[in-house]
Amino acid sequence: MTRQWPLHPTPGHGEALTSWLHRLATVYGMDLDQLVRHDLTPPGAPAPKSTDSLNLYAPAALITALAVRTGVPTEQVHRMTIAGWVPWLLDSLEPEPTPGVAFHTYVRQDSVLITSTDHPYREVPNWQAWLPVNSKNRPVSRVCPVCVESATDGTLAFPLIMQIPITLTCPRHGCRLDAAFGPYAFFGWERSKKNDRPAPRQVIIQDARTEQGLRIGTVVLPRRTVHVGVWFRLLRTLIEELSIPLSKLRIRSRRSIELIWRKAGHPARAGIIGPARTYENLPWPQQEMYLEAAATALHLVEAGEIEAQGTLGHLLTPEPDRPADDGSPPRDAWDEAREAIEEALSAAQHDPLAAEHMLAILTSLTRTEMTFQSIRGDLIALDIPEAFLPPTLAAMRSWRTEPGLSNNRPAAIVHET
Ligand SMILES: [Zn+2]
Repeated sequence: MTRQWPLHPTPGHGEALTSWLHRLATVYGMDLDQLVRHDLTPPGAPAPKSTDSLNLYAPAALITALAVRTGVPTEQVHRMTIAGWVPWLLDSLEPEPTPGVAFHTYVRQDSVLITSTDHPYREVPNWQAWLPVNSKNRPVSRVCPVCVESATDGTLAFPLIMQIPITLTCPRHGCRLDAAFGPYAFFGWERSKKNDRPAPRQVIIQDARTEQGLRIGTVVLPRRTVHVGVWFRLLRTLIEELSIPLSKLRIRSRRSIELIWRKAGHPARAGIIGPARTYENLPWPQQEMYLEAAATALHLVEAGEIEAQGTLGHLLTPEPDRPADDGSPPRDAWDEAREAIEEALSAAQHDPLAAEHMLAILTSLTRTEMTFQSIRGDLIALDIPEAFLPPTLAAMRSWRTEPGLSNNRPAAIVHET
């Protein structure tokens, strides 16, 4: 019978499964493979061929065994793998039913900076959001230098999000992550020269939004709070738009995208010349440039320096200012016409000239006495004194066509006014 291990370090916040398994194995003097093979694989069940893929997907039997051994709920263990983030981070880990449909659904369904009609079509088969297209590509492993320096033996937890090229900074220290050897433990830096440029404010904001999304499931954007799934798609769509060859863009979109790359301090398209390349397959230094450009784009849209014309663009700008006495629907030309009629009616109720003028306008196309009387009757019903209105169509025409208009009025009416 499987029993709980006497010692089991608790998983760190957002820790990746292989990172936690490595720390658990270290406690018992084993390596990760031995722990999985001998202690977490039920008798008769096949052991995972490679522990490298456990951050992507872990068999249900292994998750259950681990939950029993440690007392950590299965849902929490599942969330330590990419599979635990389906369908928010990506739609599915299953092979796509039709080549290119996964990319199209995730990246092309909506748009951010440019309209989807401006986005040249391209097909990317066998694609999975944020994961390398080609399985030969090593998984990215990025680590915070401050976390490495401050950790004591067995306490350095590798967050799952740092294995995915979606953030640039450490949520705890705010400093840039750097590529490192080893997906579950620190075995040294990939680059001898560290990237110690401070992360720009917009990058910190972008990463804080991603971190918030992973923590509570929603992200606060200027217009409204969105589900984390919307945020991930917005970010990936934006990266795709930044990768379109500039020559294929209309002039307005091209200027915006050139400005974004200039302000981000990187060559356009991270220096890539020629057809668009898939973000997931780029080396980390170019992915870094794309993430910085995306953060810059969001900042420029929010600051009103560029316009986001796509379907998700409105989420990035605050609700337009409205007058303090708001609550009424937006005004249009008919509102103005209605107000003008009300003003004219109010004047006609007190001014015989205004009343006559109003009747003249309303009957200007009238040919028959019957219609004239009908309109005149309507004005009387609207509280315009009968005496203010010419009694017949002929009388009105004679009043208005003859010189000395008011002098031609019947004396009684002049007297009454
Ligand atoms: Zn850190």
